[in-house]
Amino acid sequence: MEFKSITAPAAKKIALVAHDNMKADLITWCLRYQQQLSAHTLFATGTTGTKISQQTDLKVSKLISGPLGGDQQIGAMITEGKVDLMIFFWDPLEAQPHDPDVKALLRLAAVWNIPVACNQASADFIISSPLFSNTYEKTIPDYERYLESRA
Ligand code: PGA
Repeated sequence: MEFKSITAPAAKKIALVAHDNMKADLITWCLRYQQQLSAHTLFATGTTGTKISQQTDLKVSKLISGPLGGDQQIGAMITEGKVDLMIFFWDPLEAQPHDPDVKALLRLAAVWNIPVACNQASADFIISSPLFSNTYEKTIPDYERYLESRA
């Protein structure tokens, strides 16, 4: 695979997802960092987004609920360069009906070099990084060269 450099913007496009048992943790985290988060563009799977909108002052665009395809929507957005960062509090103690989608989303995040926080501590580290609110050079797959190599 060939790679190319891109610059992630200072104002980031942030995907927020939490499984049901983890939603309270994510809302607590959002409340704690509300001021920092409000400088970025936020979107979330359906129920996560609804709860964040109800319980914080953050503006969040809502996708489809995770079990109905929301994780796959975020995965598609990753391939289109529409996600700079993902906070995904997945439940390590309970199987989900959409486990294949969860795995697919995490895989695409790895392919496209997306920073991912899977729990409150990793989310704390990411939001405390100077890179959180600055531009960031990173490499992603070079799709044009990938196509050429297969022609
Ligand atoms: P939800 O989806 O925000 O609609 O609950 C999250 C998920 O389960 O992936």
